[in-house]
This record gives sequence, structure tokens and C-alpha cells, in this order.
Amino acid sequence: MSLPQNKAAEVKPRAFERFVPVDHTRVAFDGGFWQSWSETVRSVTIPTQHRRLEEEGFLEVLDFEKPPSPLVRPIQPSGLSMQHFFDSDFGKWIEAASYTLKNHPDPDIEAKIDAIVERLEHGQMPDGYLNSWFIRREPDKRWTNLRDLHEMYSMGHLIEGAVAYFEATGKRRFLDVMIRAVDHIIDTFGTEPGKLRGYDAHEEVELALVKLYRLTGDPRHLKLATYFVDERGRMPSYFDEETRRRGENPADYVYGTYAYSQAHMPVRNQTQVVGHAVRAMYLLSAMADLAYENDDPSLKHACDRLFDNLIGRQLYITGGLGPSASNEGFTREYDLPNTTAYAETCAAVALGLWSHRMAQLDLDSKFTDALETILFNGALSGISRDGEHYFYENVLESHGQHRRWKWHYCPCCPTNIARFITSLGQYFYSAKRDEIAVHLYGANTAELEIQGQFVRLRQETSYPWDKDVLLALGLVAPTRLTFRLRIPGWCRNARLWVNGEQMDLGASLEKGYAVVNREWVDGDEIRLTFEMPVERLYAHPAVGEDAQRVALKRGPVVYCVEETDIGTEPQRLRISADTNLTPRFDETLLGGAVVLEGEALEADAEDWGPTLYRNRPPSLKGRTFKAIPYHLWANRDEGAMQVWLTEK
Ligand SMILES: [Zn+2]
Repeated sequence: MSLPQNKAAEVKPRAFERFVPVDHTRVAFDGGFWQSWSETVRSVTIPTQHRRLEEEGFLEVLDFEKPPSPLVRPIQPSGLSMQHFFDSDFGKWIEAASYTLKNHPDPDIEAKIDAIVERLEHGQMPDGYLNSWFIRREPDKRWTNLRDLHEMYSMGHLIEGAVAYFEATGKRRFLDVMIRAVDHIIDTFGTEPGKLRGYDAHEEVELALVKLYRLTGDPRHLKLATYFVDERGRMPSYFDEETRRRGENPADYVYGTYAYSQAHMPVRNQTQVVGHAVRAMYLLSAMADLAYENDDPSLKHACDRLFDNLIGRQLYITGGLGPSASNEGFTREYDLPNTTAYAETCAAVALGLWSHRMAQLDLDSKFTDALETILFNGALSGISRDGEHYFYENVLESHGQHRRWKWHYCPCCPTNIARFITSLGQYFYSAKRDEIAVHLYGANTAELEIQGQFVRLRQETSYPWDKDVLLALGLVAPTRLTFRLRIPGWCRNARLWVNGEQMDLGASLEKGYAVVNREWVDGDEIRLTFEMPVERLYAHPAVGEDAQRVALKRGPVVYCVEETDIGTEPQRLRISADTNLTPRFDETLLGGAVVLEGEALEADAEDWGPTLYRNRPPSLKGRTFKAIPYHLWANRDEGAMQVWLTEK
């Protein structure tokens, strides 16, 4: 079979705008904010994650010829062991590593991936089935519990890994293994007589199948993804039927409601983002993909409604989402506790996946604003500055009990943030016909072809630390192009110049993007200035946790105060409404970052006395304080941290 280059790149008449992301391999971070992060992830995170996978026994599951070792992750009340989905972790690692290989060939990493692929191929069942847990431990229980055991979720991550590895190396062994696995799923599931009419409770395979379809062009791959999304939430529930077949009672379901898996009603009817946050974001990413590929406005409308619900009522200021540990997800609207925020790194990454997909369908800066928010805050906080320590939960307040870890009991997050950063270039630009959309700002050089013309775009900027962005064009011949430049939603004073001539931004703005259409020549320059004063932000009154609290933000970066900088718990500070806050670039802070400095009051414990309570408030003493970017917290000495500061 020959593989078309990229199905998504074909221009077809569509109901939606249909931008195509510029491939990440065409965008180089040559300086600036993302260079050091992407270098760290490539040179430190990727190799250390493979070491962890080995040390922690994740790759042992591929010893198909040996009897399985005793469980290292016991079975939970739901019937799930974390080991059920170990395949997903090395699948995601392969994906993350593959994204680095085209521009940075690494024979050692490639050999490690080939070794995993060989073992997977060896273990694959003759009918194409591929899941190491069931093949080795419970072969008679294949496809008997889609509600709890993540079978297709794991396959989905292997499919994404296989697509990325093929695209990076041209080696198709892994891809062929996964195409056979998908053939098996097609033979097993669907509406046709004799097939199981099920779908996995943990979404992921759906968006993986769309990726596979974009590579193979095989309509069966798209049809299967469409079936899974259309089938979800149909009543009577497949999960009830499947549970009864196992001789169990559906009423005993440990999570109580299929809203946990967004399977409580058909997806097009859903009006509130519910349940497990990562599942929700993967489902919504797949819905956006299918709206795009199938030209399906009903899915787009559902996504729009759910996006507005999430952004308007359920998202932390950092872009974190899913406040509760009990369901790893959403509770009631406006429930955004700080100290117990679950806000899983994977969920923030997955919001990035979804919002980016939405922007290709409908170029509206509300989507790319969300992408930028998670990028500089709630997703990036999931990885340490040294590239080998992580957060699973991204709290907005701590008394020092939260520390980054080398590896997690459930290590879904490290490989997720890794694959996001190693493929980051694709989030910066999209193109369609004679249009180029610029979604994100940060120093980089991108090369693309548009209508047969070579275009080089070079962003010179210290964004997000500095307000100025220079976009220089390299062209072989004069070319008429439309640039669509995102004006960040947080920016209240943006200016735009083309070759030194200031443009009227108000007149050129469409859905948050400044539109500039003209004939361009080599060496043309676009200058953008995004004034970024320190902003004091307040939460909706329904967010009781944040009453009388203020959060500090500058540009897209949310700030926090850490005990290590102020010598006391930030919970004792009182920030007055008229405090001057001064930004300063601190080159000694973790590779360099803008910090905020200002005056505050500190509740004094010295004259309080021995009692826990008294009839007078504490005395307040004046002092200075410093705030650092939230994504950099917990990289230095242990201690307390606070995003929402008490306002005096
Ligand atoms: Zn995770």
C-alpha cells in the first residue's frame, strides 16, 4: 500500500475553515523560551523516561514468552490495575521520542524503539489483537470489560506511537502491527450483525484512529472512529449489557454514573463537561477531529457548547482542569479548590490537543488563548526545569506537602507532557490555501510551502517575558498572502506594523486574529507589540475559594508566591489593591524568568500569644515580596506556594 502524504492537507470544499497545522519538524526553536525546554526534553526527559520504564518493569510486560511476574500494581476496587495500561505508557514514550528523531537522528533511541516494536510484533495474536495484559494474563477475558480496563485506550496510544515513528523514520513495521490490530477491532466492533456494539470507556483510540486515517487514507479507520463517537452514550448502555454478561450487577459500578466516562448520553446532547477530565478532553479532541474530517456541524456545535462551559465555569486560571481526585475530574460548576486541585497534567495537555483542533476548524482566538494558557501554566507546571521530575496533580496552593517526583505510581503524565513539547512546533502555525495563521509567539524559524511557494517565517522575540515580536519573512518571489495573527485575549493594548507602517488593528480583527492581506516580498517585516502590564485578576463570585483573593498575571504567565523567596508561608501575606508590582527579568532564576516584586503586609504571629484564637485580628507588618511564574514552582527548596493571594 502506498501512503498518501497527508490526507488533511488536501483542499476539499468544506463547511468549516480548514486550516492544517504546519508540521512540527518544520518549526525550529532557535533561541528564546522554548529552545531550552525542547532541548531539555529531547536530551534529558526522553532518555530518562526510557530508563524509568525499564527500571519500573514497564517493558517486562513485553516478555511474552515468559510467565507473567507478580503484580506490582494491585487490582483496585474498579477491577483495574495500573498494569492494565502499561502499553499506553511506552506507546506515548515512543510517540514523544519519535517527534525528535527527524531533526535530531539518534540511533540509540531508534534502537530502543525498534526493540519494543519487535517484542510487540512477537506478542501480537494471530487475529491481530494486541494488549500485553490480556495476552499474557487473561487471554479469555479479552473485550469483556470495556468499562474499566482501558484495552482500546492502550491500543490508541500504540497507534499514535506507530504513526509518529513511521512519519519520523519511514519504518513501517510498527505501523503494520497497529494496522493489523485495528483490523481486528474493525472485525470485532460495530453495528453489523455478529459484532460487539461497544466502545472503550477511556477515550483515546478515537483520535488515534483519525491520525491513522490521515496517514493511511483508509476510510475504514475514519469510519471506526466515527462509530465509537456516535455510539457513545446510546441507551441501553453497552456497559450495562457487558456487566451482566460477566455475571455482575451494573448497579455496583464503583463510579456510580457513566458520566464518569462521558457515556451517560449521546455526545451531541451533552451540555456540561463532566467526569474524568482526561477522558473528556480526549473525547472532545476526537469530536473536533471528526467534525473536521466528516464535515459534521453537529459535532462542532457540541464542542462549542462544551468549550464555553469549560472555559466559563470549570477551568482554573492556570488552565488546569478536573478539580477532584475522587473521579480525577469535574464536580459541580465553579468548584475550583486550590490546595486539593487535582488538575492532572494530562488533562491540561489534552485541553491543548482539543483547543488546537478547534482552532483548525474555526479560527477563533478563544481556542488558541486556551492553548497558550495551558502551555505557559497548567501543563508546563507538570515537568521540572531539570526535565526529569514531574507533577501529576497541579495544585494552586500548597503548604509544602507537594513535591515533584521522579516517577509515579500511574505515570501517564510524564510521557504526555514530553510528547506535547517534542511536537510543540505544530501548534505555532497553520496554513490553508494562501493563508497563514500565527497562533503562538516565541522565538523560532518555520519553513513551509504554501501554494507551491516557499515561505520562511522567523520570529524574533523574548516572549512571554517581553512584549515585542518581530516576524521576518523569507520568500523566493513576491507572493500575495493573508496573514492571520493572533492577538492574545489577555492583551488590552496590542499594536501591529507592517514594514514600519502601523495598521489599524480594530479594523483588521476577525475572531481575535488580525488579518493582513497584501503582496509580500523577501525581507518584509511584521512587528507586533503586546503590552503586558502586571494584571490583578479576580475569580467569579461563585468560586468561593477565591473570595478576597487576587491572582497575578503578566501576559500569558500566571504567577505564584513561594515560601523559599519570602521566608514565610505566602498564606500570611496580604496584598493591598494599590500595591505597585514591578516586573524584573531575573537571569538567575531557573534559566531566567520575569519575576514580580512589590510591597505586601504580613500577618504577624510574634505578638499573637499561645492561643489558637483571639478576639483581635493579627497585626500586619509591611514587607516586600516576590512572585515567580507558576510553571517554575517546586524547582527549588521545599515550601509553601500560593497562586490566589489574600487581598487586603
Ligand atoms: Zn496523567
